[in-house]
Amino acid sequence: MRSHLLNDATAESYRRSVTEGVERVADKLAATRGPFTGVTPAELAPVIDAVDLDKPLGDASAALDELESVYLRDAVYFHHPRYLGHLNCPVVIPAVLGEAVLSAVNSSLDTWDQSAGGTLIERKLVDWTNGRIGFGPDADGVFTSGGSQSNLQALLLAREEATAGRGGWEGPADLSRLRIFSSECSHFSVQKSAKLLGLGMDAVISIPVDRDKRMQSVVLAAELEACRAEGLVPMAIVATAGTTDFGSIDPLPEIAALAAEYGAWMHVDAAYGCGLLASPTRRHLLDGIERADSVTVDFHKSFFQPVSSSAILVRDGATLRHATYHADYLNPARTVAERIPNQVDKSLQTTRRFDALKLWMTLRVMGADGVGGLFDEVCDLAAEGFALLAADPRYEVVVEPRISTLVYRYVPAAAASPEDVDRANLHARKALFASGEAVVAGTKVDGRQYLKFTLLNPETTAADIAAVLDLIAGYAEQYLGETLVHA
Ligand SMILES: *Cc1c(COP(=O)(O)O)cnc(C)c1O
Repeated sequence: MRSHLLNDATAESYRRSVTEGVERVADKLAATRGPFTGVTPAELAPVIDAVDLDKPLGDASAALDELESVYLRDAVYFHHPRYLGHLNCPVVIPAVLGEAVLSAVNSSLDTWDQSAGGTLIERKLVDWTNGRIGFGPDADGVFTSGGSQSNLQALLLAREEATAGRGGWEGPADLSRLRIFSSECSHFSVQKSAKLLGLGMDAVISIPVDRDKRMQSVVLAAELEACRAEGLVPMAIVATAGTTDFGSIDPLPEIAALAAEYGAWMHVDAAYGCGLLASPTRRHLLDGIERADSVTVDFHKSFFQPVSSSAILVRDGATLRHATYHADYLNPARTVAERIPNQVDKSLQTTRRFDALKLWMTLRVMGADGVGGLFDEVCDLAAEGFALLAADPRYEVVVEPRISTLVYRYVPAAAASPEDVDRANLHARKALFASGEAVVAGTKVDGRQYLKFTLLNPETTAADIAAVLDLIAGYAEQYLGETLVHA
């Protein structure tokens, strides 16, 4: 069994084994004809159940053969131009290369003595991102597992800042008096974080959005005033820069001004919109982000990085101390005086992947303009898709895209009840998924069922969008036809 350990004696077997795996995936990518096979959980579960984990196959080739039927054959493929579903992206090769390197070396980014250069590379990428945001020299940050964790950490810092001198770590301040303001289109991790942070049930005040799905800053101002009048504490305002559903960007300068006026922490959730930081033509859409106290970026959404790669950035690095604990076995307090860079001092995680290496390889090979240019391409594509939808009488589209999502729905020519239209759209989404021809997402707008394209693949064309719209209309019409016959 020692022959399976990766070390000096097995370097040749490592080379063979990983190369074989890479070749299988490369063949798969070349041969894939659709984003999905349409397999159902009921069909796939027995295949996986049949595997006896206590009877190993012994060698990598056999395990790879088996992997074909348990995973690769029916996986969802994000590189396919007709995958238009969620915010998971196709990946760039330099990042995949970084992934292969980082898992073989297996650095852990909690302490310097488990990472060495890895820590400095991560710090340099944090500085690079802060430069793009426009933060000053005091800024800092750390990589995280994803946007949800970044948002949680940002709100932890906000909570500690709001309660500093009124308890902090030492004792409970009156957490039930803290309020977080975010738009009705903000990510659900804001709510979850509030719960995890021990805030009250009604801690998150949902601010309505305008027609373009941007937070209404006039309502925000009124809610902040009401909060103050009631003697409550405006702990944080979460502005979303790229809402998950619509890609809309809240009015950052107005929100920054209100945060300053009411002494609230300003967090910008740019999990989706962060790709604009590297965009050669659209960086201005994020103007005002430099006034935030903290920013969430998900490189695994709009920087074409494999899951996971995310970071939280803060304007004042000193605020990260709210996440600092010292343990004698890991990062004793003396290491601070000795200036040993231990990233765990800034992180909610302990053992932590060297995800930063993927972005490093991406920037070293492609450069920021290269990766930002890819994001620009999908934004351009979204504009084309909007024009198609707006001109198509079969469809109703909600808003002009700010970045790369389109929310729309099929509307029949003949009269149909709103419930039937909802059902027809849901049916079309499911039928499309089951066919494997394309994958689209869905959401609700004002209680009604809509469909969604999240465009993240520069290989997708307007012709792909047109073809998928024809498929959806076909399924929806078929459903309504059958419903009317049976009615
Ligand atoms: C995706 C998303 C998140 C959550 O990020 P994960 O990486 O999935 O945890 C948070 N906020 C917004 C706006 C998002 O789109």
